[in-house]
Amino acid sequence: MSYQKSEHLFEESSKHMPGGVNSPVRAFRAVGGAPVFIKKAKGSHLYDVDGNEYLDYVNSWGPAILGHANDKVVEAVQNACVDGLSFGAPTGKELELAELITKNLPSVEMLRLVSSGTEAVMSAIRVARGYTRRDYIIKFTGCYHGHSDGLLVKAGSGAITGSAPDSAGIPEGYTKTTLLANYNDKESVKSLFEAFPEQIAAVVVEPVAANMGCVPPKDGFLEFLREITKENGTVLIFDEVITGFRMGLGGAQGYYNVIPDMTTLGKIIGGGMPMGMYGGRKEIMQQVAPMGEVYQAGTLSGNPIATAAGITTLKLLMEKKDKYAKLEQYAIQITDALKEAFPQARVNRAGSLYSIFFTKEEVVDFESACTSDNEMFAKYFHYLLDHGIYVAPSQYEIQFLSMEHTDEEVARTCQIIRQAGKDLA
Ligand SMILES: *Cc1c(COP(=O)(O)O)cnc(C)c1O
Repeated sequence: MSYQKSEHLFEESSKHMPGGVNSPVRAFRAVGGAPVFIKKAKGSHLYDVDGNEYLDYVNSWGPAILGHANDKVVEAVQNACVDGLSFGAPTGKELELAELITKNLPSVEMLRLVSSGTEAVMSAIRVARGYTRRDYIIKFTGCYHGHSDGLLVKAGSGAITGSAPDSAGIPEGYTKTTLLANYNDKESVKSLFEAFPEQIAAVVVEPVAANMGCVPPKDGFLEFLREITKENGTVLIFDEVITGFRMGLGGAQGYYNVIPDMTTLGKIIGGGMPMGMYGGRKEIMQQVAPMGEVYQAGTLSGNPIATAAGITTLKLLMEKKDKYAKLEQYAIQITDALKEAFPQARVNRAGSLYSIFFTKEEVVDFESACTSDNEMFAKYFHYLLDHGIYVAPSQYEIQFLSMEHTDEEVARTCQIIRQAGKDLA
C-alpha cells in the first residue's frame, strides 16, 4: 500500500499543529510511521487520501456505532442546519434528547448537556463536591476521564497522598485533592476512605476500564464501590463516555446492574457531533446553576445540530437494540481468533469491548497492562493496517465495532488476524 499523500499532509500539518494533529493519539507515536489521513467514511469503511480502503475498528473512538455517515443521521443534521446553527436559547430538541437519555438510563433523573466528555466529567466532579461540601475525589490509575487539570493524574504507585500531575502546566495544588486507587483493588479504595474520613466527595470510575486497553471489572468490584460510597456519603460517578449506549441501551450500569449516583456520557450521544452529558440523582443535580450554587455553563451547550444527530442516533439504536447481541457475538469471534493467533498474549473482553495485550501476565489493572510489549503491538498494528484493517494505533485503546460490520467482514478480519499470528511468529 502507498501512503504517500498521507505522508505529505503529515509533514505539512506538522508545521502548523504540534505533532501534526489535534489530539495526540492520532499521531501514531506508539506504533511509528505517519498517520493515515482520512478522506471520507461510510458504514464500516474508511477511505484515505491515497485511495486505500480500510475496515474500521476505531469508529471515531466510539461515536460511530451505527457506522459512519448513517443516512438518517446525515439527513437529520442537514435538516437542522437549515433552521440555524446555534441560538444560545433553549430548544425542544434538547428536551427530546434529555427524554431519550433518561428513558434508557433511569438513574439519570436530571441532566445537563455539554460539548465533550472532558467537560462532562469535569462538571460532574464539581457538582459532587458542591453537593457533599467535600474536596477529595478518588480516581483509578489508568482510567481516563478527559484532560481537565484535576483528572490528569499520573499512574502512581498507590501512594496515598501527593498525586503528581500527568502533564506539564498543571500546578501541584490542582491534583492534591485527587487520590489514586488501583482498578479492581478493593483494599486500595478502603485504605483511602480510612485515611480521609468524611472528606471524599466522589469516586469516579470507568465501569469497564477502556483507556488502558480493555480491563473489565472483577466480579463484585462495582458492587463494592457502590456499597462503600453509600456508607460514606460519597457520590459514585460512572464515567460511561465509552460504555454508554455501547454496552447496550442501559450502558455498563444496565449490563452489570450497579446503579451510580451520577453518570457522564459523550461519544455516542452526539452521533459524531460534539456532545457530552452529566446527570444523576435529582437532589444532586439541583445543585447546578441557575437552581443551585454550582456554576457551569456553555455557549454551544445543547447545540441544535449536535442534538439532532444525537436524537436520531439514539432512536435508531433503540430500533436496532437486538443488534447489541450481534456486536457481542462479533467480539467473541474476533477475540477467539486473537487468542488462537497469539497464544502468548492476553485478550480481554467485556460485552463488545475488547483488546489484546502482548504480555504473559493477566491484565487486571494499569500496572499489569503496562507489562505489554509495545514493539510487538506496533508490528501487529502495521500488519493489520497493510491488510486493510484499521485499529487504534495504541495498545492502550480498545477496538470498536459498529452495527454496519457484517458477518463476512468479521470473518475476513479473523482470517487476517490468524494469518498475522503465523507471519509475525
Ligand atoms: C473519551 C473519554 C473522555 C473524554 O471525552 P472527550 O470528548 O474526548 O473530551 C472521558 N472519559 C472517557 C471514559 C473517555 O473514553
